[in-house]
Amino acid sequence: AELYGIREWGHTYFDISAKGEVVVNLKDGKKTKPVSLAQIVKGARDRGTQLPLLIRFGDLLRWRIDELNEGFHNAIREGKYQGAYRGVYPIKVNQQQEVIDEITRYGRKYHYGLEAGSKPELIAALAYMHDPEAYIVCNGYKDEEFIDLALNAQKMGIQVILVLEMPSELELILDRSKKMGVRPTLGVRFRLSTESAGYWSGSGGDASVFGLNISQLMRVVDHLRDQGMLDCLRMLHYHQGSQIPNIRAIRQAVTEATRVYCGLVQEGARMGILDLGGGLAISYDGFKGATSASSNYGTKEYCADVIEAISEVTAEAGVPHPDIITESGRAVVAYYSVLVINILDVNRFEPAQGKVELGKDAPPLLLNLAELQEERRKDGKLSRERVQEIYNDAVYYRDKLRTEFNYGKVCLRDRSKGEEVYWDIMNWISTKLESVGHDGSQMERLSSVLTDYYYGNFSVFQSLPDLWAIDQIFPVMPIHRLKEKPTRNAVLSDITCDSDGKIARFAHSNAICDSLPLHDPEIGSGEDYMLGIFLVGAYQETLGDLHNLLGDTNVVSVSIENGKLKYRREQEGDSVAEVLSYCEYNPKELADRFRVLAESAVVSKRITPSERKEIMGAYEAGLRGYTYFET
Ligand code: PLP
Repeated sequence: AELYGIREWGHTYFDISAKGEVVVNLKDGKKTKPVSLAQIVKGARDRGTQLPLLIRFGDLLRWRIDELNEGFHNAIREGKYQGAYRGVYPIKVNQQQEVIDEITRYGRKYHYGLEAGSKPELIAALAYMHDPEAYIVCNGYKDEEFIDLALNAQKMGIQVILVLEMPSELELILDRSKKMGVRPTLGVRFRLSTESAGYWSGSGGDASVFGLNISQLMRVVDHLRDQGMLDCLRMLHYHQGSQIPNIRAIRQAVTEATRVYCGLVQEGARMGILDLGGGLAISYDGFKGATSASSNYGTKEYCADVIEAISEVTAEAGVPHPDIITESGRAVVAYYSVLVINILDVNRFEPAQGKVELGKDAPPLLLNLAELQEERRKDGKLSRERVQEIYNDAVYYRDKLRTEFNYGKVCLRDRSKGEEVYWDIMNWISTKLESVGHDGSQMERLSSVLTDYYYGNFSVFQSLPDLWAIDQIFPVMPIHRLKEKPTRNAVLSDITCDSDGKIARFAHSNAICDSLPLHDPEIGSGEDYMLGIFLVGAYQETLGDLHNLLGDTNVVSVSIENGKLKYRREQEGDSVAEVLSYCEYNPKELADRFRVLAESAVVSKRITPSERKEIMGAYEAGLRGYTYFET
């Protein structure tokens, strides 16, 4: 558990069983029951579902909704706060129907609402959000159709807040409201001057592309006053950026925003609601705020600090407590899904370890390398300087050997022997880095070169786009065999043929490392070696793309009902025909074209008619099949 840090990033939801398997805690009646992921995968496979498999846990989604809402309710009670908490879930973070359905049904007891940042999101929100006490917050740029939809929903009794992202939106909203005879509920997105740390810090601060600055805000107030509509301005909104690792930055932003809120009340706006946007972070790496993938606070502390900061500022200004909206997305859905992949093959880093036979006529460069290799016998007695020299010389001889090979002076076999001796030396030097130290140059990269490549049945581009695009760290670990000590160090490669299609940054052993300790996958033993990639419920599913035409993975939702594992909403991943049709191919036409080729091969007697039948059958089965490696 310590090696992979599961107790840090797994919250209380994931752990390791006495059998050495990763377990997820699910709800079994009134109790929680640990269920092995390997057992879930086995059950899914028995039902015909292959890996890679995305497993969703509705229980974890519900627990996160509880944690956030109860966190605020407790902080409100303890702080004797007069306003209410009415969170909204930002649809963009995971738009799947199952998520929106669950949030609107389960969240109803908290009047938990939705945030829509575009027309399609508003259209989805309006079909699911029928609670007159919950909010739908409309961010994003709005055209007439968007505004009309929102105003019509308001007419029907849904609390839809139109947030001004740009000053120019105001005229259009006022114009449409007058024509439709509705007084709009308006919010305004404010560009805070407070900048925060973390990857998405650019979403807030003066340089942010979103929201109004203070003078634009004042012009909106003046315009609304002139129109006799200052009572329509109900909400101040800001968004600091996603995954804010440090609670101090959150507090600073709430304080600044509350001052602006109070100023708007003093200007005569009706107000009543303060919307803090997203930003509540989770820990992907367990480093407690030291990295952008971590957080130095929990939900409880977040809620308490928000309530305290708003109370302090409003008390000073003599302004009533506003109702609070937050738009936490990542913190609500990240735990919800786990991707399980199997390892298909391994490219081992295994130097020959001194077994290379050299004849008398071996090229001098090769003999030089072999002499350096001999020095490992003196291991322990070598100075730091000598180790550095051996490293430098080995690199020099190996490079020269390669050059001579290119000029035709060294044969293929000698070059291969040279590489083996070289890697044996490097392997040995890598064990000395800690005791001898190194010069901080190329040598420190040795450990990342001396690793195995494990080929996993997945696509980084489809399933972990943030890992590729912004170097996001996700927890990765084996889901079984955890009583065995891992014996290898590996980088994970996916099955796209793209050099970016790999995972080569991991958080384990309390550090960020460029390889992951793993077990020998025993390829060919008949048992799959399976890894879980965790916390992939936020942002990953719809951001993923079809690079190399690897499509959506298989998906299943798992819960316990009447003491038994229940598999629901099993969705087959994309078939080959489907991904091809996304790129404007017609699968039937593809088969017809291939049939022409097969027919001409029959005519020219390259294949027999019965071979043609078999080949066509295989082609058509390929079109129907999964885009990933099938076993
Ligand atoms: N609200 C807005 C306006 C956003 O742009 C985002 C995403 O960055 C969120 C909410 C969700 O943020 P998070 O997932 O950090 O809670």
